[in-house]
Amino acid sequence: MNPYDILGVNKSSSDDEIKKAFRKAAHKYHPDKEGGDENKFKEINEAYQILSNKEKRAQYDQFGQTFNGASGGPGGGGGFDFSQFKQQAQNGSFEFNFGGGGGGFSDIFEDMYGKKSSRTRGRDIQVRTKITFKEMIEGITKKIELYKSTTCNGCSGTGGDKNSKETTCEKCKGSGSVQKVMRTMLGNFAQTVTCNDCEGRGKRYEKQCADCKGKGKKDEDVIESVEIPAGINNGQTILVNGRGEAGENGGPAGDLLIVVEVINDSKFIREEDNINSEVHISFSQAALGSKVDVETVDDSVTMKIPSGTQSGEIFRIRNKGVPRLQRMGRGDHMVTVVVDVPTKLSRSQKKLIEELTKEGL
Ligand SMILES: [Zn+2]
Ligand SMILES: [Zn+2]
Repeated sequence: MNPYDILGVNKSSSDDEIKKAFRKAAHKYHPDKEGGDENKFKEINEAYQILSNKEKRAQYDQFGQTFNGASGGPGGGGGFDFSQFKQQAQNGSFEFNFGGGGGGFSDIFEDMYGKKSSRTRGRDIQVRTKITFKEMIEGITKKIELYKSTTCNGCSGTGGDKNSKETTCEKCKGSGSVQKVMRTMLGNFAQTVTCNDCEGRGKRYEKQCADCKGKGKKDEDVIESVEIPAGINNGQTILVNGRGEAGENGGPAGDLLIVVEVINDSKFIREEDNINSEVHISFSQAALGSKVDVETVDDSVTMKIPSGTQSGEIFRIRNKGVPRLQRMGRGDHMVTVVVDVPTKLSRSQKKLIEELTKEGL
């Protein structure tokens, strides 16, 4: 690879021209963007790592490659874990500021994600909960016990006593973060870290909140009431906004995700919005016709079995199925008739059936 070609510059290009070309290309191919390209983005970064560094650029000009003290061969210096990088950026908790080699990255990330801040969103919490078939049909308000961090009520998350004086942190000038220079084999990187004087809040208080001892949040047992709608499917997730862990330094809370497991029922089986069940009838009921009581999820329904009903025939009871999730109406109850062949016969029953046989049955 030729770093000049990759960035679309040439050997006489100035540092500024290279930086500009890099920024333009990095914006264009950033993997978070539509039409972005992660490999191209890495390539651009590698090229810039060479051309933004006087020594490496001179090496390249002289030898057509660069040399790296570490195991990597020519063109080394691209050892970032971009997937993690991207992940952090998307979570809004981006903290690394890759200012190495001319400060290109920090500018780009500030352009793309706004000024970095120590106000971080809280973590999401995912829990599973089980409900019965009946609860699935009716919908239920489920109490879910969680141990999680919540914003302190005493100070609304500031960590300071409500009546104490508030001043801007001198160390970080209110930004909540400070820069630290990290030396790595790839060069020096400025890393943005949370200010430990104010713990990232940017403000200081004469007196800290007594409730949370200045932390701004508390870990505690919480019971969340969650509405589980009628008709929810087994394995479906309910998202409750802002009910996850409290954010850092006034950042928004994460979300609560509840995976709902519907316990199998001994009588009813769900099939989309319908409910299937079986009803057992005798040979004579099937032959002569009859009325049977069928249990539905609501109540018991009397169903007419016409004469000559075969085992395995399915009858429909309308509107006794599963409520349609987020729509009107509900499915049906489908009843499969099973004709039981008698296994133990009394002497007189046996005699009667023998009579039937003579009649050709
Ligand atoms: Zn500070
Ligand atoms: Zn507090």
